[in-house]
Amino acid sequence: MAEKTVVIATNNEHKLEEISRMLAPVTGWHFVSLGSCGDFPEPVEDADNFEGNARIKALAACKNTGLAALADDSGLEVDALDGAPGVFSSRFAGEDASDADNNAKLLKLLVDVPEEQRTARFVCTLVFVDTDGSELVAHGTCEGKIGYEERGMNGFGYDPLFVSDDCDGLTTAEVAPEKKDAISHRGEALRQFIREFEKRA
Ligand code: IMP
Repeated sequence: MAEKTVVIATNNEHKLEEISRMLAPVTGWHFVSLGSCGDFPEPVEDADNFEGNARIKALAACKNTGLAALADDSGLEVDALDGAPGVFSSRFAGEDASDADNNAKLLKLLVDVPEEQRTARFVCTLVFVDTDGSELVAHGTCEGKIGYEERGMNGFGYDPLFVSDDCDGLTTAEVAPEKKDAISHRGEALRQFIREFEKRA
């Protein structure tokens, strides 16, 4: 499966970077962004779980571009909010919400929640759809707690609020990209993806 071009079905530059920096050296695939392939309508992500939404995005990108496609659907599950924002993570504070809007809403909802009840996890599902219709699916999670204010300049989304259990009290926006890859939900899903890829190669 080497030497192929794969479209990453996202307009999120950060996801594109995290996925291609881990997968390109192992797979030998050439990754391109969806935006560089043309202007396609975004599919409606109406599944009630991450895998379903990742599959919707991968199938749409494959159909629109004629290329093999890899999609990531991911989000944050906060225990004190019964798993919200979950699949609504990117639009938690509204359809066109910015990361800052989403983080502000999260902090507001947790204002009276004590430290021990601020447990949360990032979840990531990757779905790869090849041009012959075959699929490869991988999952990852990253456990942690929601902090009290935004800290750090790296990463994206909820990273400035997410204190991973494996980061010595730092948020995933305060650690280096290599550290985030080593402990994150996307890093774990990508490592599972690589193991499956190598079994099939
Ligand atoms: P998606 O593009 O529909 O999968 O939405 C993913 C959303 O979940 C993002 O917009 C972020 O708000 C959040 N998210 C997913 N992965 C991460 C991460 O690695 N760091 C911070 N936030 C993330």
